[in-house]
Amino acid sequence: MGIHFDKKRLITSLISALLLIILTASVLKWRTGNINNYSQAAFIMGTVFSLDINSYGDDPTGDLIAIGNRLEHDLLSHRISDSEISLINGNSGTPEGYPLTAEMEEILTTCLQISADSNGAFDITIGALTDLWDIDGWASGENDGEFIPPSADMISDALSHCGYEKVRIEDHRIYMPEGMKLDLGAIGKGIYLDECRSYIQENQTTNDLSGIIAAGGSILTLGEKEGGWTIGITDPFNSGEIYDKLSVSGYRNTSTSGSYERFVEYRGVRYHHIINPLTGYPTGCAEDNNKDYSASVTIISDSGLMSDALSTACFVLGETKGRELAKKYGADIYVIPEK
Ligand code: ADP
Ligand code: MG
Repeated sequence: MGIHFDKKRLITSLISALLLIILTASVLKWRTGNINNYSQAAFIMGTVFSLDINSYGDDPTGDLIAIGNRLEHDLLSHRISDSEISLINGNSGTPEGYPLTAEMEEILTTCLQISADSNGAFDITIGALTDLWDIDGWASGENDGEFIPPSADMISDALSHCGYEKVRIEDHRIYMPEGMKLDLGAIGKGIYLDECRSYIQENQTTNDLSGIIAAGGSILTLGEKEGGWTIGITDPFNSGEIYDKLSVSGYRNTSTSGSYERFVEYRGVRYHHIINPLTGYPTGCAEDNNKDYSASVTIISDSGLMSDALSTACFVLGETKGRELAKKYGADIYVIPEK
């Protein structure tokens, strides 16, 4: 009886051991087997998106680029006439409001919350102001002629069409006053990086993949790297130079906002693309009168949208209030003060 039992146990153990060996061997084979580097770059949302991914699995870069194009064209760009944001803007002032997709409702609700938390320093309803200044158009060389800053009257008129507290979202519909325009320029890249992360997680490739996705100045690191990932912080005072290096590990979002990114000059004064929604002027310029002005602000957090929104908000707020806001959201902040 005893021998019979032992024999049975021996056979069972042998089978288990064999199964384990087969399993380990196949995992090892898969682990040590082909790791490939997949790199791709594309011009999306007015900037360069570059993907650099090491993966044991299939090449994900084609799908990730497609996600960027879909977001820009279908959802986020106010420069594309049939994107959801353009349709919303085209229906401002409609008494019955305008229906939102679930995706857009989530984005806009989060943005309005950040506006409230930042006392309006971050405000996606500033479309009338960004249109008036059109710094992107001047900085990119798209506009002909000479840039002249808008008059105080023009600014106060545009300001009257802005203000997150005038927007209402109810029963999946948005209600905004006539003439108001939403501008998601500050967060599009962060939303993209969040989508990339979801795509990678949904396809369960998280463990067999590592790398970096850079959407302009917004970066997502993927997985682990020995010694951590090094993120270079652009020198706001010397174009093309690195000011400092930050080390991050795992899935993290880093986003930088600064006055050096896009700007135009008029009579020796620099007018850049981040506007203080309270004054209507680029943050830090004479009329804006921010004494705590930073040259650039970098936010590191677990969300792309959040790091993007907070870098813009903290830049507008100035260093002291910016640090308080980052702390409230549990995000890391790196400030380069103005000289
Ligand atoms: P970049 O797009 O260069 O990375 P930001 O993320 O800071 O810089 O976003 C700047 C863009 O956001 C502007 O081009 C404009 O479209 C929009 N914007 C400017 N000021 C604000 C603001 N105070 N709140 C929200 N969006 C803003
Ligand atoms: Mg931003």
